[in-house]
Amino acid sequence: MLVLKFGGTSVGTADAVRRVERIVRDAGPGALAIVSAFSGVTNTLTRTLELMRRGDTAGAFAALDGVEARHRAMIAELGLSVPTARFTTETIDRVRGLIPALTALGDITPRAADTILATGETLSSRIVADHFAAQGLDAAHLDAREVIITDASFGAAQPDTALIEEAVREKLPPLFARHPAIVTGGYIGATPQGVTTTLGRGGSDYSAALLAAAAGADECQIWTDVDGIMTCDPRIIPAARTVPRLTYDEAAELAFFGAKVLHPLTIFPAVRKGVPVVIRNTFQPAHAGTRVIAHNGNDRRLKAIAFQRGITVLHIRSNRMLGAHGFLAAVFDVFRDHRTPVDLVTTSEVSISVTIDDTTRLDAITADLRRLGDIRVEEGRAIVSLIGDGMRETAGIGARFFSTLRTVNVGMVSVGASEVNISIVVADKDLERAVGLLHNEFFDGGAA
Ligand code: ADP
Ligand code: ASP
Ligand code: MG
Repeated sequence: MLVLKFGGTSVGTADAVRRVERIVRDAGPGALAIVSAFSGVTNTLTRTLELMRRGDTAGAFAALDGVEARHRAMIAELGLSVPTARFTTETIDRVRGLIPALTALGDITPRAADTILATGETLSSRIVADHFAAQGLDAAHLDAREVIITDASFGAAQPDTALIEEAVREKLPPLFARHPAIVTGGYIGATPQGVTTTLGRGGSDYSAALLAAAAGADECQIWTDVDGIMTCDPRIIPAARTVPRLTYDEAAELAFFGAKVLHPLTIFPAVRKGVPVVIRNTFQPAHAGTRVIAHNGNDRRLKAIAFQRGITVLHIRSNRMLGAHGFLAAVFDVFRDHRTPVDLVTTSEVSISVTIDDTTRLDAITADLRRLGDIRVEEGRAIVSLIGDGMRETAGIGARFFSTLRTVNVGMVSVGASEVNISIVVADKDLERAVGLLHNEFFDGGAA
């Protein structure tokens, strides 16, 4: 059995959907296809929610009209029949029905938001399944809410792997007995009570890994719009090259530090079950892409550069740190109280610097931190990370790294907390230059 996940651009046009059908057909019987919403749809639904929060009912209706038109155009281009169009209108109408009351309330709960955000995958999975059937590929449509069982942390729901395994064992075999392929939507799930949840933005990769792990799939294929995981985001570095093999640790680190090609949580379910993860290009199916594996022997090469924009740095300075125990705990308690994850941390004798990317609670956080010391906030920062297994054992990488960046103002530095990563903070305006210099130094000469 194979799991094949297709991202937003891989189902973004009728031509792309036709490619997806050919890829799934070539995979042979036992293919579980997981699709994202058509590209841009989840963004439009997010904007719809934003308009509702601002009380703009007309704007919200107009945004939703756009979503409907997009799906109707796809249905027409694929030449699908009346039931698919009817399903689309009924699904959108249900969302339309929610808009006036929710907007009037002025309080869109995370639960209501997830119900609306789930529309993209609900529609795309049904349209793709109907296209498969129209092409003679007899695929069953599975509502992801029947198998991706989660807690009720709306917007970033935590999967319940035991319940998912149970559901997968119960639902998949009877479907595969009658159909060579199954199509379901990524990103969405439900609580055991059946309330719709989502796994967080980019979460379709996570759905794929969860289902691949639960089903004990032979492989989890992530089909996207680039030739696998590359030495850097090709949108910034056109010369970036495919990395043929990465370990789980390297891939997780890369995803965590910003390489959008994989959702940061994707790797873990697959690691646990030893399911190989492969990243491939829907638009270049002959390309082998990237294989993510458990061990890479003695491969100590650097693998890639990741980066993350929109970072805020907080510097906390206090003489109370000198020789005091419990000070760091007090600082981290503040971030825990405000449910804000910290990414990088550096400390000196009298100061601690941390980075965050979620600034929704920034004012409250700085107010609390002021009780502990002087606070300085730097906005508009970015994190750049150089990633590769066994970095600590490779003499001279640090020296090369910093001499390459001698013309860039480097803020925080974090080396060696993990064996696979050097991370620094730079001003957002210097990001592209820093990444370009590093890529040139470490990858243009064929190091990867
Ligand atoms: P999908 O919709 O298929 O999930 P995403 O847009 O989420 O696709 O992820 C693919 C994108 O990730 C690529 O188009 C690329 O711009 C970006 N990306 C960032 N870092 C990397 C990297 N190291 N290798 C490949 N792609 C990357
Ligand atoms: N459609 C969702 C998003 O855009 C999930 C995904 O594509 O992975 O975030
Ligand atoms: Mg993605």
